[in-house]
Amino acid sequence: MALERTFSIIKPDAVRRNLIGKIVTKFEEAGLTVIALKKIQMTRAQAEGFYAVHKERPFFGELVEQMIASPVVLQVLEGEGAILKNREVMGATNPANAVEGTIRKEFALSIGENSVHGSDAPETAAEEIKYFFSDDELVG
Ligand code: ADP
Ligand code: MG
Repeated sequence: MALERTFSIIKPDAVRRNLIGKIVTKFEEAGLTVIALKKIQMTRAQAEGFYAVHKERPFFGELVEQMIASPVVLQVLEGEGAILKNREVMGATNPANAVEGTIRKEFALSIGENSVHGSDAPETAAEEIKYFFSDDELVG
């Protein structure tokens, strides 16, 4: 397995419920290292650009509203096989299908307000990291 970097968002629903620490702990306990972290209020333009791949989907408008409703925490996570590992720790998109012990099983409110985002492949991980972080913010 290769040392990888992946991008994570702790979404507004989780930040509002003071779950930042519990969610970061899940990543750390899975062997992922936080190499960058910041709390921001995402703008509508940032959210629409970030989720542009979903712009034709019926839930796009709702997704953007949820992402800009209140602050988010952005992270870059590093580790062996970090992209897949992050997805495993997150759990399925729909919390009803998420495995016990995953972030979404424990914390998600619904398929839309599902507490975390995580990159799904090496190309998207690289793009998403660049979308929110400059190279000098990554402290590996
Ligand atoms: P994931 O976040 O697991 O990669 P997707 O990339 O398919 O999932 O979708 C992006 C986000 O859009 C989801 O995390 C969720 O917040 C929202 N979403 C996906 N499917 C639905 C749906 N059927 N209804 C409402 N929101 C959805
Ligand atoms: Mg996705």
